[in-house]
Amino acid sequence: MIRIQDLTMSYETGSTRYDALRDINLELAAGETCAIIGPSGCGKSTLLKILAGIITDFTGTVAINEQPVRPKQQIIGFIPQNYGLLPWKNVYENICLGFKIKHKKQDEYETDLNSLVQLLGLGGLEARYPGELSGGQQQRVALARAFLLKPDLLLMDEPFSALDAMTREEIQNVFLHVWRKHSVSTILVTHHMEEAVYLGRKIVIMAAAPGKISQIVDNPLFGVDG
Ligand code: ADP
Ligand code: ADP
Repeated sequence: MIRIQDLTMSYETGSTRYDALRDINLELAAGETCAIIGPSGCGKSTLLKILAGIITDFTGTVAINEQPVRPKQQIIGFIPQNYGLLPWKNVYENICLGFKIKHKKQDEYETDLNSLVQLLGLGGLEARYPGELSGGQQQRVALARAFLLKPDLLLMDEPFSALDAMTREEIQNVFLHVWRKHSVSTILVTHHMEEAVYLGRKIVIMAAAPGKISQIVDNPLFGVDG
């Protein structure tokens, strides 16, 4: 489970210091999805960076499974807006990047790897390079890489915004399909209310200046088809 208590984070530029996030409180049960929505500048990316352990200078508590965020010990998946694939590595190598980063043995994951490749419709594309894939296919590779490591928390920053409407819908469904099988706690940031309603069991609405939560909604429409 994810627990954020009284989180405040400020940036310093020159001689001024201002709160990018103020008094954030949020709880997320294990295996839940949470969509964060809010205007540009309200601190969404800052919040993801704190959860990913990239920003460590904050006050308050941020815990994953009752432990303070420690990327070296926890597995935190992060899918950036541009998917984060390495252009000089092929699909197979990109999916396996996580093993190197986390120093895991690849043979322990062979079965999961094959089933994820199939589940995500990447069969036959293993030898291609990211530049030879569509946006939707690149996103599938990023999802395969993220899910393969069974992360304690998966973070996605505007994961589907670069895709055209039809591909976005398709990938949203692919995401939900894989998420249901793997039950991974997921926090995603989005600009689209529709996307938040479709993918978020919990919807967090943020307001800007300073960034704070204005509402948390238990989404009654999550998982409801049509
Ligand atoms: P969002 O992702 O919701 O657009 P951000 O988390 O990127 O919001 O930014 C929150 C606020 O912090 C904004 O006012 C932004 O200008 C500011 N900010 C973001 N990154 C930095 C930084 N590295 N240094 C100083 N200010 C920053
Ligand atoms: P190789 O030994 O085959 O070059 P590395 O393990 O050194 O592979 O990783 C290659 C590159 O990938 C390095 O520059 C590393 O900084 C970068 N890298 C590591 N982790 C990630 C990640 N999560 N996302 C994107 N790039 C990464």
